Amino acid sequence: MSIAVKNIEKSFGSFRALDNVSLEFPTGKLVALLGPSGCGKTTLLRIIAGLEFADGGQVMLDGENASDRNVRERQVGFVFQHYALFRHMTVFENVAFGLRVRKRRDRRPEADIRKRVNELLELVQLAWLRDHVPAQLSGGQRQRIALARALAVDPRVLLLDEPFGALDAKVRKELRRWLRKLHEDLHISSIFVTHDQEEAMEVADEIVVMNQGRVEQIGKPADVYDRPATPFVYGFLGAANVFEGQVEGSDLRVGEDLLPLGGKEAPDGATFKAFSRPHEIEIEPDSRDSLGVKARINRILNVGGMARVELSGTQGRNGSTATHLYEVELPREQLGTMSLEEGQIVRLHAPRLALFPSAPPGTVQ
Ligand code: ATP
Repeated sequence: MSIAVKNIEKSFGSFRALDNVSLEFPTGKLVALLGPSGCGKTTLLRIIAGLEFADGGQVMLDGENASDRNVRERQVGFVFQHYALFRHMTVFENVAFGLRVRKRRDRRPEADIRKRVNELLELVQLAWLRDHVPAQLSGGQRQRIALARALAVDPRVLLLDEPFGALDAKVRKELRRWLRKLHEDLHISSIFVTHDQEEAMEVADEIVVMNQGRVEQIGKPADVYDRPATPFVYGFLGAANVFEGQVEGSDLRVGEDLLPLGGKEAPDGATFKAFSRPHEIEIEPDSRDSLGVKARINRILNVGGMARVELSGTQGRNGSTATHLYEVELPREQLGTMSLEEGQIVRLHAPRLALFPSAPPGTVQ
């Protein structure tokens, strides 16, 4: 089923939770709504489900305006962060629940219900737990049962709100892979809410990045990571080093220093914020006439496959300087050949920079 929302507005009192949100969710894809806490992800999901109603705009299901339809009519399956399984029912009965509560005329015969539930338990690979009660399951197993229960009613769309949020990191990782695999088998249009960018990157076909009730960017995981449309998206998707300054020829004037723009074209005199990821920065020795942004090494962390160097420097001029922190990642072998020391002054170069205008105010921020 195709899902689209058009010009959705939602306020709680004077607080605007969703501000003119329009999106099209591709049929059969797994889409992540990604953004920081409070940005409106859950509210949007609830509006699509029919659990919450928008103040303005439309929810379109398969091209039809479904804004006035209730939850049941929309045929959605849900999984929430806190798996609300019925404690007194067995796993089997939990999954069967949605099929048993249907009106008599819509209800399938008992043999069909049993067959369907068994199929679903096989699908989530937990058939062996069918006679257990939720208290006897691990968090990850409960979440898989919650998913089987959501799928039991043959939903046309599956909505997942931080489905693995309450689980520890290792189980989360396993379930992500499992969800991805399940989605490849079922191809049901699914939307899941997460504030974890790694989770969105790993699981989703498409990512919708949200911030303060608005959509910042939509795209495939690699697109939003490699070509972030705004500084917010850049910063939200991973660690970022930021250099702010004015273009001088082929360089950016950052405080007293000149940072080469690496061939990027930018109008002379324009002010930019230039972003670079920790693994994209190069460290070079300082000398009196060298280019690059001056920084002091505060700490060298030499663990795992990559070494991390933490640095600080000043940006800004004419008495309004501020201290900035930088982070550089490099292979450990490379660090070994560089003889860097804590307290040393070095120059930072960023061959790969993402430039965003930072002035005049009101331009892309
Ligand atoms: P989180 O990741 O923390 O769950 P979210 O992006 O899902 O955040 P929402 O739950 O959609 O955010 O909430 C968006 C904003 O709307 C928040 O500031 C929240 O406080 C507010 N909000 C949500 N529901 C209500 C409500 N029923 N009454 C008042 N304010 C609400």
